[in-house]
Amino acid sequence: MQQDKKQEELPSVETLSFKLLLFTCYGGCTTGVAASKAVIRIWEENPYDVKIGCLPAVIVPWKLKEIMRWEKRILIDACGVQCGAKLAEREGMPVDRYIELTSLLGIRKVKQLPSKDLENKVYKIIQKEVDALLGKGEIN
Ligand code: SF4
Repeated sequence: MQQDKKQEELPSVETLSFKLLLFTCYGGCTTGVAASKAVIRIWEENPYDVKIGCLPAVIVPWKLKEIMRWEKRILIDACGVQCGAKLAEREGMPVDRYIELTSLLGIRKVKQLPSKDLENKVYKIIQKEVDALLGKGEIN
């Protein structure tokens, strides 16, 4: 019941201010799972400012048009294969921040669930970029 009430209080897509969309490749590896959990957490923490975007929907022209109505976009790839970046480039979706996690963290892709330590690191990396794009913090 409490959950239903919380859900009712959240804004619908139509009433959102179209600030920031978060895209992640949802890769099945430590950094991919950590990024997926991080973007969900960040959406929960900023329900009026951000939303998770549907990365595969970029290939559907009318969905891309809808995606382009958002002021800003962040794209996160979990490994150096950079599937998200390639898709975004092919379909002509510009992004305001691009993060490729394995290079940034200096680690190899591991096809396992992430440790809590890695989850925290990935969350902080993405949160910092989100805050900067929302005008809540500075990028060093
Ligand atoms: S960028 Fe890497 S982790 Fe992400 S979908 Fe592609 S291969 Fe998987």
